Amino acid sequence: MKLIRLSCHFAFFLSLTLPTLAQAQKHLLLKGNIVTPDGVISHGWLDIAGGYILHVERERPEIPGAQVLETDDLIFPGFIDLHNHPTFNVFPRWTPPHKFPNRYAWRDWLVYQQQLESKGYALIGDPANFCDIDEYVEVKALIGGTTSIIGIGDNNQPGHAAKASPDCLRGLVRNLDHYTGFYGHETDQERIANSIGITARDMDASTGARFAQGIADGSLDLLAIHIAEGLPTDVESAQELDMLEAHGLLTAHTALVHSVGLSPAQMARVHKAGASIVWSPRSNFELYGETANVAAAFRAGVTISLAPDWSPSGSDNIWEEIQYAWDVSGHKLDGLFSTRQLFEMASSVPARVARIDDKVGTLAPGMKADFFLVHDTPDGPASDFYDAILVKAITEIDMVVIDGTPVYGDPKLLHSLGIATEALRLCGTEKALNSAALPNGPFAEVEARLRVKMKALGSDLGPLDSCPKP
Ligand SMILES: [Zn+2]
Repeated sequence: MKLIRLSCHFAFFLSLTLPTLAQAQKHLLLKGNIVTPDGVISHGWLDIAGGYILHVERERPEIPGAQVLETDDLIFPGFIDLHNHPTFNVFPRWTPPHKFPNRYAWRDWLVYQQQLESKGYALIGDPANFCDIDEYVEVKALIGGTTSIIGIGDNNQPGHAAKASPDCLRGLVRNLDHYTGFYGHETDQERIANSIGITARDMDASTGARFAQGIADGSLDLLAIHIAEGLPTDVESAQELDMLEAHGLLTAHTALVHSVGLSPAQMARVHKAGASIVWSPRSNFELYGETANVAAAFRAGVTISLAPDWSPSGSDNIWEEIQYAWDVSGHKLDGLFSTRQLFEMASSVPARVARIDDKVGTLAPGMKADFFLVHDTPDGPASDFYDAILVKAITEIDMVVIDGTPVYGDPKLLHSLGIATEALRLCGTEKALNSAALPNGPFAEVEARLRVKMKALGSDLGPLDSCPKP
């Protein structure tokens, strides 16, 4: 009942604000089990037009001429990845032979510099490769249900002057720090910044001052910044919270990425400031043998987002990071988090943290049509539909929709909507990409070019997904 009232309210709002857009675009009526913040609407309907969800209904809306797609699938809001280094996700897994006290230890380690850093910079540093990398890593994210991501490119790195983003960043997954489509058609109008860290080697004084000014004058909604990526016993990591505060950057507009080294008292300070943390358990355990004290953070009331960090030491995408986090929660944290909480930590929570929760992160009328479908049967959904993410293979993602456009999925579903596709084989299953949505041309050609370039650097191209062992 609550949902239907909400629906009427937003329909009225939309009829005032989006009439030409909604009427000019074809409507898609999509049937499935819709996962909303208020529960699942079994066999419900989404009415989508002009990139927006116009209605969420229990009964099929009457819209003459609408395209109709009836499924038994679960429909989830797309994931919002608040921490990644996507350009490095072209590399295969990197498994160092020992753990490190902090990130400076591996960044200064010659073996890392030879195996990853120098190759990465050689590849990413050549502008001719940028859009190939962009397309490859965005596909890698979206096959796991990600519809918004952060961290592509190097605009905010020290020593790199801010430069205009290439046009390819406008395609496929929304780039939270370069182009989301939320603020017009130009790139670099975003209100979110991404930073590698607070120490002098990672952030010069003028960049820090620019961030602080942006937060103070309201032009910056979120600064996501690596803080305390090292063990709690590591002196260097322990100082970074103080440094952040000294720069005037411990604020309600700050997300502290990793926070592995933060003590319970420091977590309480983070909460007091209204800041949040981003948790990347897999990458943390693989590099340091520990992860953030999320139990202390949770007890202190700190808002926690979940994100993969990067695929060399973290998960290939959020779908897999949720599965990893579920194991950590069950085996190391006495079942601290439910599957629903983990799901929200990668959808509605990061949307709220990034101040884009009026646009993405949940399924409701008036929101952008960013979501994904997970295969289910007419008997479904399961008693706890969030469990689908734990028990189903990544290939059971039937379709990913961004801004109302199906961009990836089951070839039959995409073809039934009249979409021209490119075949993609994922973990032994035939999938397809929407050819027109690819920002740098056919994916097979992008993949082939990258394979050649990486071979020349002495590396393989990392897989789109590690794929569960049969
Ligand atoms: Zn990182």
